[in-house]
Amino acid sequence: MQDYQKLRIRDGFTNSGNFDNPVFVPAPNIDTIVSLAKRRGFVFPSSEVYGGLGSAWDYGPLGVELCNNVKQSWWRWLVYERDDIEGIDSSIILNRLVWQYSGHEATFHDPLVDCRECKTRMRADKLEGYFPEGGSLVAFDANARLRAGYVKCAQCGTTNLTDERYFNMMFRTTLGAAAAEDDPTALAYLRPETAQGIFINFLNVQTTMRRKIPFGIAQVGKSFRNEITPGNFILRTREFEQMEMEYFVKPDAEHSKLVDEWVELYLEWFKGLGIDGANLKLHEVPAEELAHYSKRTVDIMYRYFPERPDAERQWEELMGIAYRTDFDLRSHSSKPTDAEGNRTNPDSTEDLSYFDEATKQRFYPHVIEPAAGVNRTVLAVLMDAYSEKTNDKGETRVILKLSPQLAPIKAAILPLAKNKPEIVGMAKAIKRSLQPVLRAVYDDTGGIGKLYARQDEIGTPMCVTVDHQSLEDEAVTVRDRDTWEQERVKVSDLVEYLQKRLKPYPIPVPESL
Ligand code: ATP
Repeated sequence: MQDYQKLRIRDGFTNSGNFDNPVFVPAPNIDTIVSLAKRRGFVFPSSEVYGGLGSAWDYGPLGVELCNNVKQSWWRWLVYERDDIEGIDSSIILNRLVWQYSGHEATFHDPLVDCRECKTRMRADKLEGYFPEGGSLVAFDANARLRAGYVKCAQCGTTNLTDERYFNMMFRTTLGAAAAEDDPTALAYLRPETAQGIFINFLNVQTTMRRKIPFGIAQVGKSFRNEITPGNFILRTREFEQMEMEYFVKPDAEHSKLVDEWVELYLEWFKGLGIDGANLKLHEVPAEELAHYSKRTVDIMYRYFPERPDAERQWEELMGIAYRTDFDLRSHSSKPTDAEGNRTNPDSTEDLSYFDEATKQRFYPHVIEPAAGVNRTVLAVLMDAYSEKTNDKGETRVILKLSPQLAPIKAAILPLAKNKPEIVGMAKAIKRSLQPVLRAVYDDTGGIGKLYARQDEIGTPMCVTVDHQSLEDEAVTVRDRDTWEQERVKVSDLVEYLQKRLKPYPIPVPESL
């Protein structure tokens, strides 16, 4: 978090209290962001006119810009700035066999329990007491712990819970107009991860782009999981967006070291988005909790719940970096056989192996996968950017200190007098001239103090004010969101000036690339 006390406040147009020595407060909890998001057009509860739909959210005019900016930053960093990653966009509905051979049909499930007292249905492994504290998970027996009363209901606190049972989280649908609901030949799934679309296209990308290992394939898009207990705003929803990248390396590469390298790169990327390193921490997933395809996973956690007194419970996963071995490419390939010599995948028509010209060896590449959520990144960014400052009269202003690259609007062009056609005309012309270069808006819907406050609250880094003098000297006042300091700038220099001030944080790309 920035050192707020160092900021100098000078705002010639503030006519309320004195903000010379303001008190700053960061986002105290997710609820504060929910309310700001709704009030200012970032995120709305979905289907509200019909009473809503549990844990579904719609992104409003500013929310869609923020999401797009997060995705663009990620794409620019991985696909454009590096020279070893290609992008793709695969289908959401894939052949059902993809999910059979990826292991998702058999194993993509979460443990579910019901509370016998308050009848709440919950995801068991997220409940207090489910895992033995600090103990080994080798002889872990969840039902024994549930029956012995170690596990508590998240709703009413009782330990009177049912045994756990497994629930597959993939959303089902049927393909084709005539398909009956229960026709197994028409069964299909909405993808629960974007990764499989990458694996099944590995050869297409590698051959068409003439790639040599190591290289990566990135994809961003919607995924769907029928979560047992969605909640906490956009943190856990049934429909969400992922930014996943599969980095293909040799079987004998230093996989664990590569996981660490990607963790470091992502930490830097998150910091570049404006997230304070103090709100990020690493979690090495214990061997017993690893997904079926993973040999090692490190989660990057964000402090989504700063209000919780128990420090351990303040954190939730922002993203995971997994070493997926050659599990997926091998599973989708036609050639591998089992101990009896039978093909392990008799349905596949392709062998997704790679021929290394240098060593004349053929192998299934191994994979390092950084998988991040767009929505969780957006929530972390909003929580870290949120700040309130209160003046000597107790009046509070919200300032969203979004990094300029993520701010939905980069510059707001404000006329000081909206009843003066020359001033309005000049302000609109400036807006039009900026728009091809950066996202700018024109706003004359209030007094200048109100307009500044509104732009501060949605994170606009620069306000450009056109006043009477602008008509004479062809100059405007540029006001900085964070310092409230103002500078007079010639209209002819404005684009260059703003571009310099809005310059994005340098993104981490290794020297070798
Ligand atoms: P969790 O343990 O929180 O359920 P996960 O480990 O199953 O998450 P991954 O399969 O690693 O999640 O997915 C990669 C990323 O996708 C997560 O780190 C998260 O950012 C995002 N993600 C996963 N599930 C959801 C969800 N239900 N809602 C929003 N984002 C999600």
